[in-house]
Amino acid sequence: MTEQSLDRAARHVLQAVMVRAAVAGGDYPAMTGRRLAGQLDLRARAEAAGNPVERADAGDRALCAFLATILSRRGPDVHDYLTGAFGYRPERATGLRHHCGRELLGIELVPHWAPSRPRELYICERCGPAYSLPHGFAPPSRLLVGPTALRVEFNAPLAQRSWFAASRQPIGGHPEHPLLPRALAPGAEALEVRIPTAAGPGLRRFAAALVVDGDYAIFQVPDTI
Ligand SMILES: [Zn+2]
Repeated sequence: MTEQSLDRAARHVLQAVMVRAAVAGGDYPAMTGRRLAGQLDLRARAEAAGNPVERADAGDRALCAFLATILSRRGPDVHDYLTGAFGYRPERATGLRHHCGRELLGIELVPHWAPSRPRELYICERCGPAYSLPHGFAPPSRLLVGPTALRVEFNAPLAQRSWFAASRQPIGGHPEHPLLPRALAPGAEALEVRIPTAAGPGLRRFAAALVVDGDYAIFQVPDTI
């Protein structure tokens, strides 16, 4: 069993916890959620045994669809689904800035069963949650928010086929409609999503989810349109 396969197993365990919490919270359909959580359990066991599952790409797409749905139903703090599964290290200065120009603080989220592979949460001092990134995934080199589109430019080209989706996020108020997952080819250097213009009442944020190599990243910006 390699360190890499243990890392992959740990990430799928964490994702299964997140999916079950979303189902328990009424944010995701029970039957679809239980099936996805079961698939993630299988992926975790297979990775831990050193036998990666076939159809991993279909699993990544399903995880991406899940993320887009919960982004559409929940406000900025999606990582709250993982309360109890993570420890939080103290925030630290990153020397990076959000697209709005303000500083980004970093907080490591440390899985209890994989303490050497913390996720990284980046918080903008003005906008709040900005990026939630897998261990070792660098923050975007550039993030552009135009009147109609969000563009996230990666720090390095993606090594393999990946999936992304997006949604407006309610801050209170009614659920939004997530966009369907779309594939990114290996070598992709950015994702770009259209920001929907029709929205209900209330404040909104906009977020894109990326699933790459069985793990996920979330990029969030205030929606000021
Ligand atoms: Zn900001």
